[in-house]
Amino acid sequence: MDRLEVTYLFNSGFVVKCGRDLLIFDYYLNPTVGLEQLMADSENVWVFSSHRHADHYNPVICDWQERVTHYFLSDDIRYETGVHKIKQEKVVFMKPYEQADMKTLQVNSFGSTDEGISFSVEWKGWRIFHAGDLNWWHWKGDTPENIRMAAEGFKTELAKLQHLKLDIAFFPVDSRLEEYRALGAEAFCRTVQVDNLVAMHTRGEAWTAPAYFPDKERPVTVWCPVQSGEGRTFSK
Ligand SMILES: [Zn+2]
Repeated sequence: MDRLEVTYLFNSGFVVKCGRDLLIFDYYLNPTVGLEQLMADSENVWVFSSHRHADHYNPVICDWQERVTHYFLSDDIRYETGVHKIKQEKVVFMKPYEQADMKTLQVNSFGSTDEGISFSVEWKGWRIFHAGDLNWWHWKGDTPENIRMAAEGFKTELAKLQHLKLDIAFFPVDSRLEEYRALGAEAFCRTVQVDNLVAMHTRGEAWTAPAYFPDKERPVTVWCPVQSGEGRTFSK
């Protein structure tokens, strides 16, 4: 399928629609999108949660199981509220650097620099990456030692992603990092081959990418959704 519709839910939450199938990433809050109907109208629904933090995992996703083909949950979610309700055969718990081959989609998990995992998904000819909370968490007020460790941790994970070729990458640009908010996204787009960057986890202020991001030599297309319900269609 050569068309993909992406709708922003909230924080790092997105719905990706291709034909009659859906991927739902890091559902947290959804002020606007008629998700129940969307799921009801779909043939397959695949649900992903990158880690157990409340802004990435909402137990309500467990109530959707009649509509859900498979869940891919970070292993740290295993004992969270609601998860025991999901039929065992419907859920794949993933630690970093694992693979789940479901015929119509291949899921590879990678590491995070916070908790849990990040996801690389191949689906209907599309290569999609969702970073979860994988980021270069450079907090200005932090100790030099912590800042150094955050940089090192991120670079170690990034090295493991450098072979990826992605159509769409969802990546955090957290406004609380102030002028360092795009440090991680920039390094990511310089290292990994990315066609479209979808900025997420803004935590407040929207992000406006510079004219050529990460640089003039290899600019990527950037979308930073602001309002829940905003959508983009990607074609190739
Ligand atoms: Zn988060």
